[in-house]
Amino acid sequence: MPLKQTRGPQTGVCNVCGTNGPLTVDHTPPKGWAPHVPMRVSEVMAPLREGTRHQYKKVSNGVQFRSLCQRCNRDLLGSRYDPELIRMVQSVTALAKTSLHIPAIQFLRIKPQRLIRSVVGHLCAQGVERYEKGELTVPLRDYIMDSGKPFPDRLSLCYWFFPYPGVVLTRDYHITHLGSKQTSLLWIMKCFPLGFALIDSGYSFDGIPAQFTMDRHRRLGIDDEAEIPVDLLQHPPRYFPEHPSNNSIIMSGPESTLASASPPRGRVLTPRSR
Ligand SMILES: [Zn+2]
Repeated sequence: MPLKQTRGPQTGVCNVCGTNGPLTVDHTPPKGWAPHVPMRVSEVMAPLREGTRHQYKKVSNGVQFRSLCQRCNRDLLGSRYDPELIRMVQSVTALAKTSLHIPAIQFLRIKPQRLIRSVVGHLCAQGVERYEKGELTVPLRDYIMDSGKPFPDRLSLCYWFFPYPGVVLTRDYHITHLGSKQTSLLWIMKCFPLGFALIDSGYSFDGIPAQFTMDRHRRLGIDDEAEIPVDLLQHPPRYFPEHPSNNSIIMSGPESTLASASPPRGRVLTPRSR
């Protein structure tokens, strides 16, 4: 199975705005969140299917895609929206590492519209030459480019505490309940300490209570604030939602990415091997 392409041509169509021109490299998740360390990139289901011998590609500096124009990458995401996401990441990291005894459910004051645009923008950056997203192409472009637009009604963004190593990025991932005729499209971005899932077309999402979605904030103004809960104790399991559960079916393609930190080079010395 081919691995996800991360470096395409120097010029092409921006994954967010659709403009044809020079392309820049986007760190996904963005700088300030994900560690820029050597990683092994594989398709998400490969370790489950092929075990420890699965195919992977080495990257030296985190996961990056050359897929955005400079305006979308630097002026929109980097300057206007990413700082809110990074602030949330830093707050949750501090809560996760505190030695104080604190209630499991904590509340953060954030600007949801900036946070959602940052997450959705980096989800769009995944893949090379992937501006076309079917029915979502125009709604996603307009939402990210126009700070006055509400978050589209057909979409849902949920989040949860993710206290695990590694990075998971997917797009175009279909999920359905056993016996259900309806499937939902999922885009996922996970890296300590947060997981996000963008869901198209109203999937009642097993494992994430409704209070951990951004849905009720979809019509706020760009700088309106809201208090959002984060549950540090009752969080979904490590491989949620990209691996199927007992009552769900997943359909994924090579565009799903799992990035794990590469083990350090060399051999661990034990008393016997010296
Ligand atoms: Zn652009």
